[in-house]
This record gives sequence, C-alpha cells and structure tokens, in this order.
Amino acid sequence: MSKVLYEKDINKEVLQGKKIAVIGYGSQGHAHALNLRDSGFDVVIGIRPGNSQKKAEEDGFTALAVDEAVKQSDVVMVLLPDELQARVYTESIKDNLKEGSALAFAHGFNVHYHQIVPPANVDVFLVAPKGPGHLVRRTFEEGAGVPALYGIYQDYTGNAKDVALAYSVGVGGARAGVIETTFQEETETDLFGEQAVLCGGATALIKAGFETLTEAGYQPEVAYFECLHELKLIVDLLYEGGLENMRYSISDTAQWGDFVSGPRVINDETKARMKEILEEVQNGEFAKGWILENQANRPKFNAINARENQHPIEKVGRELRDLMPFVKNPLK
Ligand code: NDP
Ligand code: MG
Ligand code: MG
Repeated sequence: MSKVLYEKDINKEVLQGKKIAVIGYGSQGHAHALNLRDSGFDVVIGIRPGNSQKKAEEDGFTALAVDEAVKQSDVVMVLLPDELQARVYTESIKDNLKEGSALAFAHGFNVHYHQIVPPANVDVFLVAPKGPGHLVRRTFEEGAGVPALYGIYQDYTGNAKDVALAYSVGVGGARAGVIETTFQEETETDLFGEQAVLCGGATALIKAGFETLTEAGYQPEVAYFECLHELKLIVDLLYEGGLENMRYSISDTAQWGDFVSGPRVINDETKARMKEILEEVQNGEFAKGWILENQANRPKFNAINARENQHPIEKVGRELRDLMPFVKNPLK
C-alpha cells in the first residue's frame, strides 16, 4: 500500500517565516489562501483587477499584481485556469521568481505537457487536493480535510519535499491523508478520472437514464429525482463505506438489479472506450485539442456548453430545486 502521511508525520515549521503567493483567487485559490492563513502562514494574493481581486480584499488579504506578488514570495502557488497559466507565467511569473524559491501547482497539466518550462534554480512541486475548491474550504472549516497528492518535479534546494508537505498541512490535506505522486501520474489520472468517471462518465450516465425514462413516457420530474437527485444520496453511502456499505443500505431487490444490470450498462465495450480516453491523455492528444480549442477562442466548448444548459434535465431540475430550499445552489 502507498504510504499515506498525516499531520503528525509532517513538520510544518519549514514554511514558518516564508511568504506564500497564491496566484488566482477562484475555486482552489480562495480555499488554499484561507486555509493556509488559518494554519498560521503568511499569504499574499497575486491577481488581476476584477471580481476575484475584490473578493480577496474583502477576505482581508493583500491583493497585488501577479509580478509583484511573485517578487515578494518564497512559494508561488499557481491557481489560474490551466489554459491561461502558460501566458501569465511567461508575462508575469518567470522573470520574477527568486532563486531557491518554489513554484507550485495544484494540477500538473502545464508542466507535464511542457507548456511551462520552469527555470533550473527553483523547486517545483504540486499539491493537488482531490476535491473541488469550495469543499477544500468547507471541510477545513468543519475541522476535516480533503485528501491531497504531492509531487516533486524539481528539487533545487534539497527541501522541495519538506516544503510541499508543509504546504499540504496548511491547506488541510494532511488531515485526510497525503500521498506522494509524480506530475505525470497526477496529470494523467486526474484527466482520466474527470473525463471517464467523475464528470464525463457521470453526466453521460445521468442523461442517458433520464432520456430513456422520459422517451418512454414517464414524467420528467420522476426521472429527475430517480437519475440525478438520488445519485447524491447513493454517492454519500459509497463515500462513507464503499460499494459494500451502499449495497447494505439499498434493498436486496436493488442490489440484485445492480449485479445483473450494471455490467450491461458499463461493459467491455465501455471499458475499451475508457482505454482509448486514457491513451489520448497519455499521448498528449487530449492536451493538444484543449490547448488549440483555447487558441481558437473555444468555439466548440461554447457551442456544447450552450446546448447542454438547454437539456430537458436542466430545465426540470431548475424548477424542482427552486422548490427545495435546503438544496443550496452555489451559483445563485
Ligand atoms: P478558477 O477558474 O476557479 O479560478 C481562476 C482564478 O484565476 C480566478 O481568480 C481568476 O480571476 C484568476 N485569473 C484568471 N486570469 C488571470 C490573469 N490573467 N491574471 C491573474 N489572475 C487571473 O480556477 P480553478 O481554481 O478551478 O483552477 C486552478 C487550478 O487548480 C488549475 O490548475 C486546476 O486544474 C486546479 N484544480 C482545480 C480544482 C477545482 O476544484 N476547481 C481541483 C483540483 C485542482 P478573475 O475573477 O479575475 O477571472
Ligand atoms: Mg482536474
Ligand atoms: Mg429506488
């Protein structure tokens, strides 16, 4: 089994007296910055003028231009959107990094696919919480944490690992467990997971189930509750106790249906598709497509996004969620 590290295994003193620049104040940025500050570290935000800058200032941070924040800092955590990192790095980060400082990421994409080539005289590491930023903050406030991966790409000072581990304590990851990885493994598993299982796989499964029921004439409201709303309750059981716990809680009828029908939905053919997806992540094909899509100002991304937002499951879902005040929509 991989070695899992917890707060008791890690010395966070190596970051005491150091300044950490969190670049970007979005989903991950606000969570890292607030958690690190609550853990006793000295944090400054590097951001452009706009909403995120205002939010950082409202939260009590000093918000500087990116180049200024980098110049002042010993650790520079880049939490910009992946597709913008290379440009901001070239314009505002690269020439302002102090020798012996650390350049850090929460996802290995840009370094692994060589969109950012760090100078030789800095440490380069990643600390990637395995969860959405808003939960990285919420769980921290609740006294818990989201597990994190850490990886070292370049160890100029000889301290890169200690600094990365101290950072993972600061962000709350070490409360749940921290595992060593490489930039390659983090990047490839993260991209595969979000495409095949967590985001792409799950949304395609939900939509296919909803469409099958409504095309057969069942009420959209019933199909929504069955295929989307209830999934959260099932996932909570999986999260708490694995497949066994979920199957313990559902009826034996549901469990029998799980055994005989699940493998007909996700079958050898699906797995062959998953292998293709993994291959395209590994050989850079996916990264190339995403980088080019951004260079073309996202024509395909925007078209698909607009169409997806009009899907009948979204329309009925909006209406039903408005009637459930306990279901909080963070976008509202
Ligand atoms: P977001 O899109 O939520 O936030 C990006 C931030 O960058 C915003 O504050 C934005 O500010 C700022 N920004 C954008 N352009 C610039 C610029 N030119 N100069 C300065 N600031 C800028 O990003 P995420 O938090 O989703 O992603 C950050 C990183 O974390 C990525 O590497 C991602 O892969 C990784 N990650 C994300 C996870 C998540 O939960 N979302 C999970 C694990 C890893 P503005 O408001 O001005 O646009
Ligand atoms: Mg990801
Ligand atoms: Mg049922």
